[in-house]
Order: sequence, then C-alpha cells, then structure tokens
Amino acid sequence: MSESQDLRIPVGISRCLLGEEVRYNGGHKLSRFCRDQLSKWFRYVDTCPEVEIGLPVPRKAMRLVATDRGTRVLQIDDDSKDFTDALAGLAEQKKDSLERLCGFIFMQKSPSCGAFRMKVYHPKGHIDSTDGRGAFAEQVMLRYPNLPVEEAGRLMDAPLRENFVTRVFVYQEWRELLRCEPRKKDIIEFHSRHKYLLLARSQRHYKLLGRLLARAGNLSMATLVQRYETLLMDGMRRVAGRAGNTNALQHMQGYLKKVLNSEQKAELVQLIDSYRKGEVPMIVPLTLLRHYESLAPDYYRRQKLLAPHPKELGLYNEV
Ligand code: SF4
Repeated sequence: MSESQDLRIPVGISRCLLGEEVRYNGGHKLSRFCRDQLSKWFRYVDTCPEVEIGLPVPRKAMRLVATDRGTRVLQIDDDSKDFTDALAGLAEQKKDSLERLCGFIFMQKSPSCGAFRMKVYHPKGHIDSTDGRGAFAEQVMLRYPNLPVEEAGRLMDAPLRENFVTRVFVYQEWRELLRCEPRKKDIIEFHSRHKYLLLARSQRHYKLLGRLLARAGNLSMATLVQRYETLLMDGMRRVAGRAGNTNALQHMQGYLKKVLNSEQKAELVQLIDSYRKGEVPMIVPLTLLRHYESLAPDYYRRQKLLAPHPKELGLYNEV
C-alpha cells in the first residue's frame, strides 16, 4: 500500500520499539502495545538515530554528560567520542519526514531518544541531574513544540496513554484542517467540536482559547492559526483527571435536559457521580451519553469528547 493510500496517522517511533535489533547491545525493546495495537491506527515512520548517523550494531554504550559545552552525548569508556552534533543534526536532515508526523513515540532512557527525565552525568561519573533529554529527541521537541510526544514506557500508564493517543488524533485532525486552507469560521467550528475534550484537561486553556476566538476578527489568519495551535496543544498536554472529566460530562449532560425523563436524568447523574468518586471508569457514563446521541441536538453529537479515539483501544476503560 502506498503512503497516500494508507489512511493511518503518520507517527514517528524509535526503531527498537518495533522489535528491530538496533540497540547498542544488539537487542531490541519491542513494545507490543505499539506494534500490535496502535499500529492499526498509526502508520509508523521509524528511526534509529544512532544507526542513522553511521554507528554499528552492536556499539559502545553512551550517556549524557554535563560539560562546560552543555549536555553532550559521550561514549562511556571514551569521552573524546562525542555524538551530540551528529544526533542533533539528524533532525535537520530528516525534516521533510518529521514535518509530516502527527506524533512521536520515543524509547525512554536513551541518550539519543529519551524524551523526559534523563540522567545527566557529571564528568566524574556521579549523577549531575535528572532533567536531561536525548540529543535527537530534544531537537525534535524544539523544532516541533506542538507535536504530541511520549515515551513507550510511559504509555503503560493508562491516563498518559489516553492523553497521548487523544493528542495524536486531535493534532491529526487539526493538520488536516490546515491542509484545506480553512477560514476563521472553520477554526471556530473545529473548536466547538473539541471544547469539552479541552475543558476536561484545562479550564484555563478552555477560557484562553474562547477569548482568542472571540477576537479572531482582529487577527490575521496566520496569527490566529499559530496562537490557536499553540494553546490547543498546550492544553491537550494536560492529563484529564476525574474532576476535569466530570466537569465535561456534566456540561454534556446539560444538553440532554429537555429530552430525558426524570428517571433517565437520575440514572445519568448517578453514573457521572460514580465516575467522579472513582467507582467506575470513564467509559461507563460516556456509554450512556453516547446512547442518547440520537435524541440530542446536533452540537452535542459533534462533540469529540464522545469518541476521541477508537473504542477498540479501550482507552476509556482504564481512566
Ligand atoms: S533508543 Fe533510539 S538510538 Fe537507541 S536503539 Fe532505540 S531507536 Fe536506536
């Protein structure tokens, strides 16, 4: 199947996560969740930065080291071997492919691919800090700050998994909209479909985006697009907790006031409250909200909160 016929979302991934034996020790770090489940919706664009800068498999291990030239990727047994610039430069070489991505799944704890809380060593060997980032991952995140990024290890955590997959789907839809040269009213329409998904994550961003769109008429299209995307993806990065989701569910419930009888309303109120208390997962009240879709106004039916990701992934079963 050619790239243009493949409707899956393009997502970057560290190659070892797909089971390829490209690690420094000749092994891999297969993520079954990525390979077997997410791959039904994500078309992977895999990268092994260390192999792509010409290093062999196997190869000597490297680590992040705090030096007077900043954080560097150095070979552990020979710190004259510095791979930082080559790894960082790879992001420039691969920019045509990176620009098309709607997400990136990195391998954790790698001096090239680690995206969060990497150990940075002092030249004498002890740990200097734990806020490092792999040299390739850092470049990708600097160049594409709105790109949804996650580490495979963190995808084992249900709320982080739900958050990342939702972000990829939202970002893909946003990019799709931009490809169609949208007018301001199209952005407002996009926002109206995503507002409760956003509200669940951040009331602050929900308000800021509302204000931004209220003065959309005074902004150039380029400014509006840039500010909207930045705020949207920043808000979506927040993980929706029970309080945020409950708030969003209650807003949705408000649209059903006139169409449900008192018994149905009481059942819905009780399920949302059970969710709030942690007695049932998000899928329970949401299933009931979806059940009433046909009775609800059009605005309600278009809300992404009802189905932000494929139900086969079961992401709302665990949050
Ligand atoms: S973590 Fe990155 S650089 Fe290391 S083997 Fe995996 S893909 Fe290659």
